Amino acid sequence: MRFTFTAEDERFRSEVRRFLSDELPADWTLGEDDDSRQEFTNYFQKKLAKKGWLVVAWPKEYGGQEWPVWRQMIFNEEMSYAGAPRANSSGVALAGSILIAHGAEEQKRRHLPAIANAEVQWCQLFSEPNAGSDLASLESNAVDQGDFFVLNGSKVWNTGAHLADWGILLARTNPDVPKHKGISYFLLDMHTPGVIVRPLDTMAGDARFCQVYFDNVRIPRDCLIGQQDQGWYLGASTLNTERSAISNAAGSKRMVEQLLAFAREADGGWARPTPIIRSSLAQLEIDVEVARMLSYRVAWMQSAGLPFSHEASVTKLYTYELAQRIARTGMTMLRLYGQVEGASKWAPLKGKVERVYLSTVASTIGGGTSEIQRNTIAGRGLGMGKAT
Ligand SMILES: Cc1cc2nc3c(=O)[nH]c(=O)nc-3n(C[C@H](O)[C@H](O)[C@H](O)COP(=O)(O)OP(=O)(O)OC[C@H]3O[C@@H](n4cnc5c(N)ncnc54)[C@H](O)[C@@H]3O)c2cc1C
Repeated sequence: MRFTFTAEDERFRSEVRRFLSDELPADWTLGEDDDSRQEFTNYFQKKLAKKGWLVVAWPKEYGGQEWPVWRQMIFNEEMSYAGAPRANSSGVALAGSILIAHGAEEQKRRHLPAIANAEVQWCQLFSEPNAGSDLASLESNAVDQGDFFVLNGSKVWNTGAHLADWGILLARTNPDVPKHKGISYFLLDMHTPGVIVRPLDTMAGDARFCQVYFDNVRIPRDCLIGQQDQGWYLGASTLNTERSAISNAAGSKRMVEQLLAFAREADGGWARPTPIIRSSLAQLEIDVEVARMLSYRVAWMQSAGLPFSHEASVTKLYTYELAQRIARTGMTMLRLYGQVEGASKWAPLKGKVERVYLSTVASTIGGGTSEIQRNTIAGRGLGMGKAT
């Protein structure tokens, strides 16, 4: 594992940093990439795409620059540190990687350049009302009719499905075999008749999740990825990619820096840090460094072409539980002011702590809960097999 970046990497990092400082509005604050800012987010994604930065590690023929995975990680880190608006991570990170690894050539040519150019939005259609942690129990079924499949059922908690043009979908194509063996992986055109999307409000006040219903939706056969009934294994690889959580440590680092600056400036006032807060902030400073190193380990494994699984779970678990610890420390430090929302002149740090406190509750559920990550680490990482 290398701890230094090349001069070229550092030049790229400076260029991204300069770009973000020039292009983000002066009043842009971390975490405000909700739907009310969707217009700016779309505009910003196009600008990034024009610079060729959305998918720098992809092959050139599909819109990438064939740069090392490290360069993608540097870009993600800087984006996360600046709190820059991200859209279409399901397209860039999830649909993109599954298409590159397992897509047919025609599927790659059709979808990858459109993602690289920020022309389409994607969503992930895996979880169902009765299948989350135990995803293999999913019930949405796609019946083989020759040239097409007919899909019925529903999905839930699908981030950004209300804005999506396409979705990556797992559906049951064979109910008569053990549950892991009868699932197929599809690309679903979200504009197909019979796809119904209903946004769901979260307690953080946004509506970025959806429930999606399928009523006799026709999926053309050429939207199947890999072999019919073999989709479970591709789904597991998508989840690994999702869990690598490579950029999130940088956003946490920024928040700890902001809390530290606030504590230093408090200078005897109401926000003067108590001994407990001082100690918590010192611990968080260490924890964000640990999170960064864990992320680098997964990036290094990716760049070396090594399989990673429980390593991604370690990073996901640690990084997202850390985000919750940071938000809790911030709320304790800001006392009752911590609950004031961003628009108020009484909201410290433009209400960021309150926003992160509410939104990070979901972060240890999405992409697989902390309990499931611990099961994976115990089973695959520590050789203890499956929990009974
Ligand atoms: C922020 C966020 C974004 C999401 N985005 C998407 C998306 O875009 N697309 C998508 O398809 N889904 C998405 N999801 C859904 C997510 O993948 C599921 O919520 C998650 O897998 C948990 O499933 P569940 O909600 O059904 O909870 P359950 O699986 O019902 O779990 C309930 C509780 O039981 C525990 N539990 C379950 N099984 C075990 C076990 N074997 N051992 C120990 N404890 C266990 C869990 O840890 C949890 O505490 C998102 C969820 C969130 C919160």
